[in-house]
Amino acid sequence: MDIKQCRRCRKIFQYRGNPTCPDCIRELDTLFDAVKNFLYDNPRSSIAEICQATDVPESDLMTWMREGRLIMSKEAPPALRCEVCGKPIHSGRWCPACHANVVKGVEDAAGSFAPKPDVPAPRVAEDDSKGMHITTRK
Ligand SMILES: [Zn+2]
Ligand SMILES: [Zn+2]
Repeated sequence: MDIKQCRRCRKIFQYRGNPTCPDCIRELDTLFDAVKNFLYDNPRSSIAEICQATDVPESDLMTWMREGRLIMSKEAPPALRCEVCGKPIHSGRWCPACHANVVKGVEDAAGSFAPKPDVPAPRVAEDDSKGMHITTRK
């Protein structure tokens, strides 16, 4: 049995492969649905507008964007910055160029024994006309 501290509410919980506790997972699912519904009607909203309309904390929106669950439209103002070069990005932690370098750097430096950075590749909204994109879990 593995005990962890919830990344979101700092509560101690029984770890089952998720960095947040069951309470937060349930809450986040509800919040994510609210954001999804809001974006369905208002696809070009900025982060600030989403926070205001749905009461979802900005930190949760950022988490979803880093995880690639929530992808900003290219027409919406980019809410994230590349952690390496500071370029505005719509999802993930790095711009595509820096992401390639980071992944390569980790492989070069650590050989086969270090895990790769736990970060999804930056994703670009495929179709600009549709505005904000949501990835749904299957
Ligand atoms: Zn929690
Ligand atoms: Zn960059």
